[in-house]
Amino acid sequence: MEHIRCLIIGSGPAGYTAAIYAGRANLNPVLYEGIQPGGQLTITTEVENFPGYPEGVAGPDLMEDLRKQAERFGTVIRGAIAVKADLSESPYKITFDDDTTVEADTVVIATGATAKYLGLEDEKKYAGMGVSACATCDGFFYRKKTVAVVGGGDTACEEATYLAGLASKVYLIVRKPFLRASKIMQERVMENPKIEVLFEHNAEGLFGENGVEGVHLVKRRGEADEQHYDLPVDGFFLAIGHKPNSDIFKPWVKTDETGYIVTEGDSPRTGIPGVFAAGDVADPHYRQAITAAASGCKAAIEAERYLAEKRL
Ligand code: NDP
Repeated sequence: MEHIRCLIIGSGPAGYTAAIYAGRANLNPVLYEGIQPGGQLTITTEVENFPGYPEGVAGPDLMEDLRKQAERFGTVIRGAIAVKADLSESPYKITFDDDTTVEADTVVIATGATAKYLGLEDEKKYAGMGVSACATCDGFFYRKKTVAVVGGGDTACEEATYLAGLASKVYLIVRKPFLRASKIMQERVMENPKIEVLFEHNAEGLFGENGVEGVHLVKRRGEADEQHYDLPVDGFFLAIGHKPNSDIFKPWVKTDETGYIVTEGDSPRTGIPGVFAAGDVADPHYRQAITAAASGCKAAIEAERYLAEKRL
């Protein structure tokens, strides 16, 4: 069985940054790209808030740069997906979908999270053309425009409030007759004159020639007074939750009720010696490329110290 000193699972900003640091520390990192090589940023258009790019950078280009930087310091990058983990004892065993199993002294779990979508065909059709699952990433493109946000939780309220600072009008599409978000977030939404909450509404589809121009809505679906109508909007934001990609690690590491890996304090330590979690898989709060990169850096530094301590 192949023995790896530093195994990194995931190829978003957390995984690549861990690889850059681990490579420069001579840990001979091996990185597995996973389901979506390059991570969530490869489905974003322009990234304007990653420091160092004054003119902005296309999401896929940023990830290509990070990949090259990781390779420059000797990271071996492979295409398989991790399907099984055995973290019962060191060296830890990880099995991939190409039927290989490797053993590793240290593991950086950087498998990310996946934004949930409603499952409408039109979400795919208009991907990058008006449909987004990240207001902080894409909100800037909707200055003085009209947008809709779907969801009634904290994320939806936070995104709607953020977007109201940029857009001229924000519709919050909520399927229930109430918001699930915390009281303070609800108040912020209700008090914002730019936000209009559409309770008991569901989105059924989108329309537009060269991008989103509006959403097909249904009010009080399944009730006697069910009503269908079209709402003109320029942007359609999903905020119905994220699913952290932590399933295979759940038997071993602590996760919260949503599945986010719980780390020790501010560190990426999972509680299993030599196993670290970085990026969105362990971050229900910030979910930014730069915060993911920072935690990937921390994970690699921790891995280096662990290996030195154990003389591995
Ligand atoms: P939540 O699971 O809390 O909320 C998801 C929302 O999306 C709910 O309103 C839900 O509706 C709605 N929804 C889900 N599926 C659909 C669907 N198919 N169609 C329409 N609506 C749908 O997710 P969040 O991302 O908002 O929050 C996740 C966690 O992160 C929470 O614990 C939250 O408190 C926390 N968080 C905290 C923040 C903060 O403190 N600043 C900021 C952001 C998140 P329904 O209510 O009907 O189920």
